[in-house]
Amino acid sequence: MSVVDRQEWDVVVVGAGGAGLRAAIEARERGARTAVICKSLFGKAHTVMAEGGIAAAMANVNSGDNWQVHFRDTMRGGKFLNQWRMAELHAQEAPQRVWELETWGALFDRTKDGRIAQRNFGGHEYPRLAHVGDRTGLELIRTLQQKIVSLQQEDFRETGDYESRLKVFQECTVTRVLKEEGRVCGVFAYERESGRFFVLEAPAVVIATGGIGKSFKVTSNSWEYTGDGHALALLAGAPLLNMEFVQFHPTGMVWPPSVKGILVTESVRGDGGVLRNSDGKRFMFDYIPDVFKDKYAETEEEGDRWYDDPDHNRRPPELLPRDEVARAINAEVKEGRGSPHGGVFLDVSTRMPAEVIKRRLPSMYHQFKELADVDITAEAMEVGPTCHYVMGGVAVESDTAAARGVPGLFAAGEVAGGMHGSNRLGGNSLSDLLVFGRRAGWHAAEYAAGLAGARPVVDDVQIDSAAAEALRPFSAEAETEEPAGGPPENPYTLHQELQQTMNDLVGIIRRAPEMEQALEKLAELRLRARRAGVEGHRQFNPGWHLALDLRNMLLVSECVARAALERTESRGGHTREDHPGMDRAWRRINLLCALTDPTGGLAATDPVRGQIALTRETTEPVRADLLALFDKEELVKYLSEEELYE
Ligand code: FAD
Repeated sequence: MSVVDRQEWDVVVVGAGGAGLRAAIEARERGARTAVICKSLFGKAHTVMAEGGIAAAMANVNSGDNWQVHFRDTMRGGKFLNQWRMAELHAQEAPQRVWELETWGALFDRTKDGRIAQRNFGGHEYPRLAHVGDRTGLELIRTLQQKIVSLQQEDFRETGDYESRLKVFQECTVTRVLKEEGRVCGVFAYERESGRFFVLEAPAVVIATGGIGKSFKVTSNSWEYTGDGHALALLAGAPLLNMEFVQFHPTGMVWPPSVKGILVTESVRGDGGVLRNSDGKRFMFDYIPDVFKDKYAETEEEGDRWYDDPDHNRRPPELLPRDEVARAINAEVKEGRGSPHGGVFLDVSTRMPAEVIKRRLPSMYHQFKELADVDITAEAMEVGPTCHYVMGGVAVESDTAAARGVPGLFAAGEVAGGMHGSNRLGGNSLSDLLVFGRRAGWHAAEYAAGLAGARPVVDDVQIDSAAAEALRPFSAEAETEEPAGGPPENPYTLHQELQQTMNDLVGIIRRAPEMEQALEKLAELRLRARRAGVEGHRQFNPGWHLALDLRNMLLVSECVARAALERTESRGGHTREDHPGMDRAWRRINLLCALTDPTGGLAATDPVRGQIALTRETTEPVRADLLALFDKEELVKYLSEEELYE
């Protein structure tokens, strides 16, 4: 029997980015004793890297904006595959969440008359992104952390203990959500420095672990994004929704190789930056798809006039949704009109005075100066698509953020699916984190309180099996049985091969034979990963951490590849060269991924056949009053025949 430290909480939040922190604040404010656990240092989450801003229809810069317009833009951006109730709640509640941040101490950039300034971003009809220069995520996390500290100070005054009701466990990784009789009863975790195992017992667990980008070679994401929360939910029995939709941001750095993939914020284009090919042509005018034709400028002159007079001109096509711009850049490079290092040119230097660039885009200025020796006030940047965000995720109930099928499990933020449909608009993630982080914390606290004396208990067998799974990489040499037999494998080599496979075969443009090849390669990697071995001890052992993360990346990658092969159309972040158009018959179809072994075990699963089973599900029809927000002619472009008929 394992002897591991156990602590009891009401709610455990896994992840301390915007979604996790907002969930924890809400749960604690509603009376739940709440633990937050995060893999990295407290404060170092993806949210801190967010640059451009947070989307909320506050109408500070253009009084025409309101939640209905934001809802419309979000549904258009997601090509109508969004879980519409989430998109509705998001558009309605985002302004309150931004104002609330200000009451907690956030300081956004201001308009001349002192209101929160809002900037333009792709796919948003009006200037809508509240921002702090290009360091918005930093301010968001700083404010949420400050709120947590203030709650802890309140608790100290009452109980004499800062951590009596809200405690942060930093640099700790959760490897399993534990269950008793189908209900959540806690999490199994280890300290990254010491390797010590421990269990946090709680009837409600909120997963807020962010995305999956580290399964791809070129990505804007950092080391933490190994799809842990997606895998934790799957292993606990909760399905993942529409995992084929991965967003490739159009503008990542392409040079030098060591920084390839690092994000170049969309604010560069929002503030006037233009894309050019090697002939000096503003090529985006050639790539306006039919569904957007009436909303985007046809000439450079009109596009340029829009910055000063948006009411009488249409926006430039550089501000099309990200999926459109990424595909256009890809096509230009493929046609041989790319920049010297395989991207295209993004230029602000000829569009704004140097001091304005430095004031509005300070991080970009320093990023290029320090990493690429490029002065963006004097020359163009070279940029190309980079894996940035996953729209697919844990299937959740829209109002409560409860994960489907697993009582006590909740998910919010990038790890949750549905909100963004097939493609997320820039700025809609930060608002999503706050809106649904709050809802997840609220409903998790309510759920835990409702159980009163009937809480599920963690049994030792589960702890032992989670511990054995985590220790497995130290005894990899013993794995000699067929079909997994062979010498120990280096987790770094496996990771590189996985990233290359996903990048090359399930990347921005997809083809059936390549995805089939990817699934074969994933099967091979799964077998080899069973022998992913590490040397040394549990203390300070990054190889061991990666060996554990590989389980998650392989699971998630299989979900992406299987769903991408199944969806025979192109929509949003999913582009099929062999099925280039958007197919209305697919509009109402969600793809759900679940484990082939429903007990959550991986060992019993046939390693060759795969670990993931796909099912199709028809989506709920969009409510009539929400459909009434669109012109009929526009709906014809998106809705299925039967929906139009209804
Ligand atoms: P995160 O902020 O990433 O937090 C995840 C947390 O989970 C971390 O604390 C991590 O340590 C923890 N974690 C992960 N796995 C485990 C585990 N196994 N055990 C314990 N803890 C774990 N969006 C916008 O709306 N506007 C922008 O301007 C914008 N700019 C961006 C710029 C960049 C460079 C990037 C990468 C993204 C940007 N995004 C932007 C997207 C947005 O930042 C993210 O989608 C969002 O921050 C995700 O927040 P989250 O709370 O879901 O996850």
